[in-house]
Amino acid sequence: MTEKLYDNDAFLFNFKANVIKCEKRGEKFLTELDKTAFFPESGGQFGDSGTIDGVNILDTQYDGDRIVHISTEPITERKEVLCEVEFEQRFRKMQNHTGEHIVSSIMHRRFGFNNVGFHLGKDEMTFDFDGEITKEQMAQVEKEANRIVCENVSVRTYYPTENELDAIEYRSKGEVEGKVRIVEIDGVDKCACCAPHVSRTGQIGIIKILGFIRYKGGIRIRMLCGLDALDDFKQRIAREEEISHLLCVPQSETVRGVKDLTAQNDALKYKNTVLKKELIQKYAEDILTTKKNVCFFKDGLDMADLREMCNLCAEKCKIFAAFSGDDTNGYLMVIASKTVALRAIASDISTACRGKCGGSDAMLSGRATAKKDEIIIFFEEI
Ligand SMILES: [Zn+2]
Repeated sequence: MTEKLYDNDAFLFNFKANVIKCEKRGEKFLTELDKTAFFPESGGQFGDSGTIDGVNILDTQYDGDRIVHISTEPITERKEVLCEVEFEQRFRKMQNHTGEHIVSSIMHRRFGFNNVGFHLGKDEMTFDFDGEITKEQMAQVEKEANRIVCENVSVRTYYPTENELDAIEYRSKGEVEGKVRIVEIDGVDKCACCAPHVSRTGQIGIIKILGFIRYKGGIRIRMLCGLDALDDFKQRIAREEEISHLLCVPQSETVRGVKDLTAQNDALKYKNTVLKKELIQKYAEDILTTKKNVCFFKDGLDMADLREMCNLCAEKCKIFAAFSGDDTNGYLMVIASKTVALRAIASDISTACRGKCGGSDAMLSGRATAKKDEIIIFFEEI
């Protein structure tokens, strides 16, 4: 079995190891070393990347009991090859993971809730608890967690003997198989965990809860720590800068800017409705009274406008058919009559207009894909 160097030293990033085996599986190569500082994907945390003998390692996984390093190129089976774990990505995981321990310990101590789920991916970290708290309580948890960061207390890992373990009160995420590895944050928490962590809480930098939702009778927290929290902060500032430019207001006043814009938009919408109503009235006045059918075409109207036109003009002719759109994109249509039972001819209209319409004997509405000229001819002849 591969010796797990990360078990005793989470800050070992460069090491020499012997290549035991390199085998091809599908498009990938799986390399087994006699010892490794690469942490394999497990416990909800994604696997490490880096290089072995100059070859890029994309991921590290458990393959049964073995730890395998995954690459797209083969690695020569030989002794004493240079291996390097990608420092920053791994350090970010250690910051996030240790931050999670701190928050979980506070949730457990303050509210008696257990951590029942954990996911640490490349873009986000989520973890779940079997009980709910309020936003205000969450703010208190975050504050206490960051106090523990500032106190810069030590984090150590060890394997107690069975007798020692019996005397230790520790948290665990379900049943632990094999020897139990304890991660102890001095004076704060003891938890069974196999992953690498920072060695002092100050190295976490900052613990920022981004939000939480109700989840399976408890809550799911989204959180970022350290360099990931800094990146998130930078992205938020960039977004705020962009919004402030778009609104032409200082960054501190973007909320007021959006509220003003919404109010302006509502006022314009209202004005638009009034003007449109007047316009429809004018269009209707231009329709002359006749015993024939009348087709009306005007782009830019919606279904409500077409219905309004029909209400105003149905009495002026036999069948009044109003359309909005163009020959390329098709038409919205509303058809009305005071004298013809429209449902009886709805399918004829649908066929002739190459579309679909439905409704009552007094009014049909739908869509058409036929050309304007074809529609006019159809209504002249019907
Ligand atoms: Zn852990």
